[in-house]
Amino acid sequence: MPYDTQPKASHFIDGAYVEDTEGTPIDVIYSATGEKIAQVHAATPAIVEQAIAAAKRAQPEWAAMSGTERGRILRRAADILRERNHDLSVLETYDTGKPYQETSVADATSGADALEYFGGMAATLTGEHIQLGENWVYTRREPLGVCVGIGAWNYPTQIACWKGAPALACGNAMIFKPSETTPLSALKVAEILHEAGLPAGLYNVVQGMGEVGSALVTDPRVDKVSLTGSVPTGRKVYAAAAEGIKHVTMELGGKSPLIVFEDADIENAIGGAILGNFYSSGQVCSNGTRVFVHRDIKEKFLSRLAERLDKAVIGDPMDPDTSFGPMVSERQMQIALDYVEKGKAEGARLAYGGARIDRDGFYMQPTVFADVTDDMVIAREEIFGPVMAVLDFEDEEEVIARANDTEFGLAAGVFTNDLTRAHRVAARFEAGTCYINTYNDAPVEAPFGGSKNSGVGRENSKAAIEHYSQLKSVFVRMDDVEAPF
Ligand code: NDP
Repeated sequence: MPYDTQPKASHFIDGAYVEDTEGTPIDVIYSATGEKIAQVHAATPAIVEQAIAAAKRAQPEWAAMSGTERGRILRRAADILRERNHDLSVLETYDTGKPYQETSVADATSGADALEYFGGMAATLTGEHIQLGENWVYTRREPLGVCVGIGAWNYPTQIACWKGAPALACGNAMIFKPSETTPLSALKVAEILHEAGLPAGLYNVVQGMGEVGSALVTDPRVDKVSLTGSVPTGRKVYAAAAEGIKHVTMELGGKSPLIVFEDADIENAIGGAILGNFYSSGQVCSNGTRVFVHRDIKEKFLSRLAERLDKAVIGDPMDPDTSFGPMVSERQMQIALDYVEKGKAEGARLAYGGARIDRDGFYMQPTVFADVTDDMVIAREEIFGPVMAVLDFEDEEEVIARANDTEFGLAAGVFTNDLTRAHRVAARFEAGTCYINTYNDAPVEAPFGGSKNSGVGRENSKAAIEHYSQLKSVFVRMDDVEAPF
């Protein structure tokens, strides 16, 4: 291995790497080759205890610092992330298999944006003064305490920062559990935060499977849980958190619609559909995987889409020219390939791809199904792979009803050159994150999250502050207390 992918130890707790080889071994596999590139151990109960105790101890002092001081550390960490973007991107590519062409612009850089944004915001967090005649109330914006972050495997660095940055800015401590599939990058985030001056105990990383996540979520010392994962896991974690009346943010899955009207700029619409189905080999929660294309332009859309897909550079993810890499794991590839078989069996027309690619690693072709109908499994279930379903439609009213006919509500997009129609459709989408003539942008300045079964709460933007802090109202009386007796 030309790059050192084996971390110093499995966990990062109380400002240092910590190991406990009693924990179940977790092999880290480079999905472009199938090689084992590292091994970590799942956290034992002793490790979980160490992390929670460290976070609980460190948090009050951190909360007592001024927002400016806290923010300075986060912004310094952002600078270090950017300086080391190349190495962090290489590591992220090993961890996930995503092409370096992507990781070098969308992972550590996005994490750095979150640290910079919330670092800048830390000093601006204030309460308000509410005058009531001579008396008044003031509010204090206070941290929640110990927050747990649980991540999915598609954006390990980004998720570690999107949860850590607002939590720390608000004066909380964070314990982050990465997905067992991608345990490497979050350790680097912890290391960099401490190098930037974060006091020990405030950002801890513990490895493990669902049981470790569950042990963290159910501990009474934990005040908040933020999960990025699938809807079934979300249900379990939300229910476990409810037992302790904990705050939650749930960033879950989707089956988002992308509507292309007949007047759309077709090249831009195809560009949006490519970004919304094939970026990160389709392993993006907000993907627009139900592409509704107006009947009049459907065949043109499909033929131009195929021409553009022919230009995908599929290969070694470390090669900067590669634009389409392997799936994260053999298991995830198999799930997506099984859906391809279901699509064929249901009578959808395979318009592009559909097969595993004959090379080492877990590669499958970008895949497009046409003539998909609303009731097909490939139009209803989240695949989380490079499989686009193209559905036909005739008119606006009909397509909006069909777009919204899903348990999910993460994202939705529309391509049209009709200004009023664009906003009318966006207003009617039942989704938390909507796009007009674009798809899958996720800048830190804008709220990101889902409605319906796709989630609760919002990440990024000023809105995230609401989910990592609570308001205390302090009533102050200047005149006498009027009691009935
Ligand atoms: P999973 O739901 O399988 O897992 C998510 C995380 O939860 C993992 O770290 C997992 O651990 C952990 N976990 C599993 N069971 C429990 C439990 N009972 N208690 C606590 N933690 C638990 O999702 P994937 O990792 O497979 O990620 C893919 C999913 O994530 C997709 O559905 C996708 O849509 C969604 N996602 C949503 C995003 C959003 O922002 N809305 C962004 C990215 C992905 P482990 O896997 O190690 O066992």
